Amino acid sequence: MTDTTVAPFSGERVLLKVSGEALMGEGQYGVDAPTVDRIAADIARVYRDGHQVCLVVGGGNIFRGLTAAARGMDRAQGDYAGMLATVINALMVQNALERENVPTRVMSAIAMSAIAEPYIRRRAVRHMEKGRVVIFAAGTGNPFFTTDTAAALRAAEMECTCLFKGTQVDGVYSADPRKDPAAERYERLTYLEVLSRDLNVMDAAAISLARENHLPIVVFNIHEAGAFSRVMRGEGKFTRIEVAG
Ligand code: UDP
Repeated sequence: MTDTTVAPFSGERVLLKVSGEALMGEGQYGVDAPTVDRIAADIARVYRDGHQVCLVVGGGNIFRGLTAAARGMDRAQGDYAGMLATVINALMVQNALERENVPTRVMSAIAMSAIAEPYIRRRAVRHMEKGRVVIFAAGTGNPFFTTDTAAALRAAEMECTCLFKGTQVDGVYSADPRKDPAAERYERLTYLEVLSRDLNVMDAAAISLARENHLPIVVFNIHEAGAFSRVMRGEGKFTRIEVAG
């Protein structure tokens, strides 16, 4: 793939999507504390570099509505359980960030006033302006959606300059690089290329939302220590998805 020079990001408001899978580390289920600590340290570095950071946390390491539906559970009911799983993860990430001395707020799309603030857009913006990392929990608050779509939605609402998607590989490939050694990594893609080639980045609803709102998406490997802060500086390997040109 062609090598392109990408300008570093500076003093921006950005959203990082952390999937539930990322929090499992090498495990098959649940949360791996050292992995959460490493991701929190990476987020803290970006925060200390002077950026406003918000997070959307997934829940697939604990519960997925679709998997439960395949086993006979009512889909919407399963999805609500999945959204609750994201709240558990959000609390774990909050705890790890606070141990890094980063002030945080968890805002939940499903009211849960004893443990999280309700999601109020203007209040979320204010938190970030005051130097707090905002962790968005419970996805969009609606069944039949994913936390990828929640990430695109919140990033648009927060007027973020970029949506960072931390994955298991260092960008978007033409095929799964873990299975196909000939797979090539893309430096840049357009939203339409992602949709038309059915590339496995985020679901189509999330890509479409980002496209309509001219929100660039950067895909990188969240398992490499310090990767988020490196990618924020425009260094390291990643794929950038945006409009052509
Ligand atoms: N979910 C939902 N609506 C949302 C976001 C999430 O119903 O807006 C549910 C859905 O069941 C999903 C689960 O929460 O399977 C966990 O989220 P997701 O699978 O997106 O987490 P990730 O893959 O990022 O770990």
